[in-house]
Order: sequence, then C-alpha cells, then structure tokens
Amino acid sequence: MNIHQNKDILLHTCCGPCAEYPVQELLAASYAPSLYYFNPNIQPQVEWQRRFESLQKLSEISGLPLIAEGGSQTERWLEIEGSRINRCRFCYRTRLEKAAQYARSHGYRIFTTTLLVSPYQQHDLIIEIGHELAKEYGLEFLAADWRSGYRQGQQMAKEHDLYRQRYCGCIISLSESYYKDKIKIEHDNLTQSVN
Ligand code: SF4
Repeated sequence: MNIHQNKDILLHTCCGPCAEYPVQELLAASYAPSLYYFNPNIQPQVEWQRRFESLQKLSEISGLPLIAEGGSQTERWLEIEGSRINRCRFCYRTRLEKAAQYARSHGYRIFTTTLLVSPYQQHDLIIEIGHELAKEYGLEFLAADWRSGYRQGQQMAKEHDLYRQRYCGCIISLSESYYKDKIKIEHDNLTQSVN
C-alpha cells in the first residue's frame, strides 16, 4: 500500500467537464488530486467510453494521474425499482463506495467527488453518503460545494474541446432526455465506427 501525503486526494470523477472546476480549486488549495473514474451508471458502454476519453484528455492537459475501473452496467440499473431518489442514492453510493475502497487500499486519507459541482445532482444526499462512507472506511470526505463554479467549469471544458454530455448517465435518464433521439444516433455512429 502506498502511503500518501496529507494533501493527496482521490477525486472521484464523473466526467471531464465536471472535473474542470474542482481540479482548479483543489490545486489552488494545494491538494494533489488523482482522478478516479468508476461510473457503471454511464450507459451504454459507448457513452462510458466517450466520457472516459474526454477525461483522459483533461488528465493529459492537467498532468494529473487517472485511474479507471469497471465499465458500464446497464442491466444493474434497469433492475432498480422505485423512485428517482432511491435510484440515485444507489447510484451515488455504488460509485462513492468503490472510490472509498480504492482510497483505503491505496493509502489516500481523503476523497471527494466531482458530483459536488453539479447543480443538477442531489448535493445534500451526496454529502450524506460521502460522510457515511468516510466513517465506514476510516477516511475523510471533503464536502466541498463547487456549484457556484459549474458554469465556469463548463466554459473551461468548451475551451479544452471536451465532450459535454446532455444527460445524467443511466439509460433511464437517457430515455428522459429531450435530446434522446439525437444521442441515440450519435451512439449508433460511434458503435459502427469501432466495429
Ligand atoms: S439519474 Fe444520474 S444520478 Fe440518478 S441514477 Fe441515473 S445516472 Fe445515477
């Protein structure tokens, strides 16, 4: 197990654009972030790959290490019954628990998530889950509120020419997206181009 310095932080990262502002703020506060991409909620796999590639680009631009695990898990999300709050709770917990496990086994003392930049996510629920997991795994969870920098982060992503998605991630959120037909055509084109 590597023992990290106090200022090393594992940054669970949902995508490149959402990482822009938190990375800027963490670096300004003298943290050394490692980007950690574990997002089985990003569906289908072609979309998981697309967001991963955008994060790879940010990793190259920023010079920060990037760790990726897993892939897309559509079936698991389709099995989840109940309200959006239960589905999203499951989603946040699944992703953050994996990040906490990685942090614990690789010597990070503190972790957080780029989900805390988005005004479209359930901020208080993410913080609640982050604190629960921190307690469970003997870590610290950085409960930042980066939402005021969301637009700035999106602008930075535009300047870096990063792909900016138009739905949250899971197949259910895709089916609810105003842009779903256009996105499905993009997915088909991307799938054909890799075959
Ligand atoms: S809407 Fe977003 S946060 Fe909720 S389950 Fe789907 S991907 Fe996860």
